[in-house]
Amino acid sequence: MLYNAAMRIAQLAPPWITVPPAGYGGTEWVVQQLCDGLVANGHEVRLYATGDSHTAAELCALFPAQMPDRIGVTPYDARQVSFAFADIEQSGFDLVHDHSGFLGVAFSRYLATPMVHTVHCAFDEFAYGFYEQFAQEVGYIGISEYQQSMAPPGMDWAGLAYNAIAVEQWPFTPEKDDYLLAFGRVCEAKGFHHSIETAKRLGRKLIMAGVLQEPYREYFETQVAPHIDGDQIVYEGEVSDERKRELFEHAHAFLFPITWPEPFGLVMIEAMACGTPVVAMRQGSVPEVVDDGVTGFVVDADDLDAFEAAVGRVGELDPAVLRRTVEQRFTVERMVADYEAIYRRYLDR
Ligand code: UDP
Repeated sequence: MLYNAAMRIAQLAPPWITVPPAGYGGTEWVVQQLCDGLVANGHEVRLYATGDSHTAAELCALFPAQMPDRIGVTPYDARQVSFAFADIEQSGFDLVHDHSGFLGVAFSRYLATPMVHTVHCAFDEFAYGFYEQFAQEVGYIGISEYQQSMAPPGMDWAGLAYNAIAVEQWPFTPEKDDYLLAFGRVCEAKGFHHSIETAKRLGRKLIMAGVLQEPYREYFETQVAPHIDGDQIVYEGEVSDERKRELFEHAHAFLFPITWPEPFGLVMIEAMACGTPVVAMRQGSVPEVVDDGVTGFVVDADDLDAFEAAVGRVGELDPAVLRRTVEQRFTVERMVADYEAIYRRYLDR
């Protein structure tokens, strides 16, 4: 019915981080680009997010500013979902697209407006149990085939939309410095300890950067901090957006020796956009994002010898091909088109 018509869509972001984020925040980047892209395509979009967010959509805020130190603390998402649902219910939207975690899904049965929900997380034990219980509640959207394959049986999948980046915002150069880069939330899942060991074995400089969240402090203190010498092994903490892009642009290789089933992994396409090869362990979405031998190297999980050897081969890859791959597969335009198609299919079902 709605095939070519503009849609009225409510987007529900998580309540803790600004859209777009000033530092850490993968989901918030995706939400920002999706909202702007939908508006550019003529849809009417209202975004429920923190009051310091910036969007081409109409912004509707309960909380005035972001509070990243409260991530996961539940009263905030409970209040935001309750506030958004009340507003949505009297606004006559065609569709709600929820990114807010678990509460939107849990209470969607009390909302008359149809809802889709992007699963931004991996199916760990907690998420698996939750989605198993609410498998038929809304139209679910996955961000990789691997992620979807780990879901409980019977999930009502409305579609799959790979994440994206605004490629033009990422600087490209084929001329690289000699440091290796590890970037992301500093935690075991992202394999910082493997990156350190690889750099030490190869005698190369490693620059690490990324937010340290409280639950991972012990990992940092025991597995990362003792190796930092400020010379060969460097940790810059949570860096500015500008420094992040500079680090990705000039790195010899981006190391991604993860130890968890990564649901998508934005950092891989950020590196590729800069023409920086990704050396990754085969976990989760990695083989869907990195073409082994073309945009990076993918080795078996926990095989540090193969990982080390792959780092030695990144000079064989053409940085221009990496950039082009992102321009072909991971653009915002493609992601927005995927979401529009999913919305229409879901409303027409
Ligand atoms: N990021 C950042 N600063 C940090 C850590 C991460 O800007 O200190 C960004 C990173 O560049 C990416 C996103 O946050 O855009 C993280 O998304 P990803 O899918 O790589 O990992 P997640 O942390 O969501 O598992």
